Amino acid sequence: MSGTSATDTHPLRSETASVATDDINDAPGSPIIADFQDSMGEDSATNGESSQAMDELDYGESGDEDSPLLQQPQPKRGRRFFQNGFFGQRASSPSYSEADTADSATEADLLLPSPSETSSVRLISRGRWGTFLIRLATYMAIGIFFILGWKLVFLPRTTLRRDLARLRHFQMSLPDLERALFRVPDPNSIREWSNYYTSGVHLAGTNLSQAQWTADKFTEYGIKTEIVPYYTYLNYPKDHGLRLLGINETVKYEASLEEDPLPEDPTSMRADRVPTFHGYSANGNVTGQYVYVNYGRQKDFDILEQHGVSVTGRIVIARYGGLFRGLIVKGAQERGAVGVLMYTDPGDDGNVTIYNHYKSYPDGPARNPSSVQRGSVQFLSVTPGDPTTPGWPSTQFAERTDPYNSIPSIPSLPVSYRDMIPILSELNGMGFNPNDIGEDWRGGLREFDYSSGPSTNSLNMFNLQEYKTTPIWNTIGRIDGIIKDEVVIIGNHRDAWVVGGAGDPNSGSAVLIELARAFGELKKQGWKPLRSIILASWDGEEYGLLGSTEWGEDLAKFLGAKAMAYLNVDVAVSGPHLDVSASPLLTTIFKDVAKRVAHPSGGYVYDHWFTDSNAHVGSLGSGSDYTVFLDHLGIPSIDFGFGGDSNDAVYHYHSNYDSSAWMNRYGDPSWEFHATMVKIWGLLVLQLSEVEVIQFDVEEYARSLVSYFRRIQEKIGEIATDNAEPTSTSSWMDSGVYSCPDKDGSLIRECTYIDREAAADVDLPDFELGWWYIASSLHNCTNALENLMKTAAKFEEKSSYVRAEYLTDYPWFKSYKKMRLYVQIQELNSRYMKFERKFLYAQGLDDREWFKHIVFAPGIWTGYAGATFPGLDEALDARDIRNTKKWLDIITNAVNDASALIDID
Ligand SMILES: [Zn+2]
Repeated sequence: MSGTSATDTHPLRSETASVATDDINDAPGSPIIADFQDSMGEDSATNGESSQAMDELDYGESGDEDSPLLQQPQPKRGRRFFQNGFFGQRASSPSYSEADTADSATEADLLLPSPSETSSVRLISRGRWGTFLIRLATYMAIGIFFILGWKLVFLPRTTLRRDLARLRHFQMSLPDLERALFRVPDPNSIREWSNYYTSGVHLAGTNLSQAQWTADKFTEYGIKTEIVPYYTYLNYPKDHGLRLLGINETVKYEASLEEDPLPEDPTSMRADRVPTFHGYSANGNVTGQYVYVNYGRQKDFDILEQHGVSVTGRIVIARYGGLFRGLIVKGAQERGAVGVLMYTDPGDDGNVTIYNHYKSYPDGPARNPSSVQRGSVQFLSVTPGDPTTPGWPSTQFAERTDPYNSIPSIPSLPVSYRDMIPILSELNGMGFNPNDIGEDWRGGLREFDYSSGPSTNSLNMFNLQEYKTTPIWNTIGRIDGIIKDEVVIIGNHRDAWVVGGAGDPNSGSAVLIELARAFGELKKQGWKPLRSIILASWDGEEYGLLGSTEWGEDLAKFLGAKAMAYLNVDVAVSGPHLDVSASPLLTTIFKDVAKRVAHPSGGYVYDHWFTDSNAHVGSLGSGSDYTVFLDHLGIPSIDFGFGGDSNDAVYHYHSNYDSSAWMNRYGDPSWEFHATMVKIWGLLVLQLSEVEVIQFDVEEYARSLVSYFRRIQEKIGEIATDNAEPTSTSSWMDSGVYSCPDKDGSLIRECTYIDREAAADVDLPDFELGWWYIASSLHNCTNALENLMKTAAKFEEKSSYVRAEYLTDYPWFKSYKKMRLYVQIQELNSRYMKFERKFLYAQGLDDREWFKHIVFAPGIWTGYAGATFPGLDEALDARDIRNTKKWLDIITNAVNDASALIDID
């Protein structure tokens, strides 16, 4: 129906009616409506207007007075419901009185002024219903508002932590989890796991069943698990020999190259025990004079050279203890030696020696004289991992390269000190003895005087290894967290040099299984970690960190983006003293954990650690599976375990006597230290995985950088002083590049001298030239570090504020604060995640580009021990001024990037 025709035909049309009224009043008359008009009068008419107005408000047909819908109030869906449904019936209740209606009218009038005194009967009738409805709606609105308000006022104030826990359907707090975790570790079950691992040969690539057993255990504890193989190049021992030759090549003495089978130590008796050998040693049969080189450090070789003792063409004999064994071979090889023998001198065993009246194992805690330290002679500080795939994963059909950049080309053998005594005794009085070249050349044996040689008699050494490319097996378990993009990884290697390996590595393996069991228990209680957790049981660590390195290279992209931290345990227990090395980001959190775990001999772990070493945290070098994570991928890492000191039972590292028998008698008779390791490792995981704001300490990192840099500055000072001496021709000069000050000394101008004569024309001491060249870089680096200290302090301040807010109760009407807080947490976390990565340098360290971290790397000539600012440190050692400047600038850039990352307001 159109508006115009309706208006024309309406019988009750009034002169005074407005356009709007015309439109509304066009409905055909009705007797019922007429009755209402009589009884209700003007007020009702007014109410009719209100009703119309309300209809408009309710249904959103606002303002359009020409709307056809208003011309004939055809109920729409909602309207019909309102009129005929539950509310409509209530509106017709007889209890409503005239007075009620009048009141409603008044209220409605306040809302909308009455447009006219005249209205139609139909409107009046509708108005009455409308009155009910408005009133009802109003009361109901007030009621609902009141009830809601009441509820909201008494709604509990909550923390963001609690809100998120509710959202994630997980209500156990960290203390709940901690208590549940601490209930699990059981020394007896840990011993059982250890007995399993130490009951059969598990050299790298020889024991798939142990990888499978580990996977089965993880699966049993509800952890998704897979076995990941890599195909690595490695060697297995076939044959060896060592003979001291007399006149006319007669055999004067033949070394046993065997560890004594001991009835008290069943694994040492096994027929399938692993021969003594070196991983990656070269095959060879060499004969020559021999030289004792102390620890085989670079400085030891230098001293010999200075005294005119050459190792070229000779066999080198070194004692273990100064540096990673592969680097002894590297040093010897580079100086022309043809073979290397290594033995463990009891003088390096601390106070527990037969000379101090201790009995030797198995009768006492001193070293068994026949014990031999096996081990890898890979050049660990150059490239770890499979030597044929440096930097890429050893998948089955991977491209391979010549391995000799990182493994030796001369043979080497490990020997017991008992086997070595007749050989080194031959050198008595030959060459130089410790009186001439330094007391630190003297070991603990009394049978000879530690003369350097060379010998007059020759040694013949023979080494036969079978080399092959063979699968190794990592067992990888995964507990998916709520946050999938942040992953905490824990790892321990499974392979050992010997049938036993109760300390290295299977104390760690047993602890790992027990920790998996603990995680299984937590899962049973409904635990789903906030961040994902990966558990790794590596194979091939002993040869050169094979399993972890290949996996890290394989998953570099994933790990680079998502790995939050790597927590390594190699030897979990070989004594009672805690040893910790870590990225400075993790030191604070580790100390916090150590303060909450009870120590087997009373008090807390931290107390004993503090007494032992002032709670010292070392810097990470290499020698275990954290290497790829920290040094190659920039993932904050930690390595820890309980070891012995100079007054504890001698740990027979990489020997047949690293066995269950030794562990039960000397290492950890109660197995309580193992259980303690489960708690420390587990709590560290929870502290990292369950706490919303990542608990890294960038301030500690900045402080550490400053202290490392101070060492560098001291070194520069020493070099400058050395070079100032007139006798020392300039080492700085050897690089050929100098900066020299202008005449007034105010400008730094780079100039290159072609030869020494030209350089000599400059009448400044050489060290000043060098100083001038690096002065501005040194200055920039110092400034960058100072700035990092400031931004780091600010960042940690912000972080502790956010941490506190996270645990602060807020009422519901301040939810926006919690939302903002949530965003802040994400922002902080993403910066924490990226921080350590800022110290990666894509091109890597000089001559060993696999190592990308500019702050931490194994010392190029130490291997185990960490070097700090290795690129810079090595440039200084080489007296290479150009490279010194290069590394100063690289460090400055990285430090500035790190500052920019954490510079937030
Ligand atoms: Zn190990």
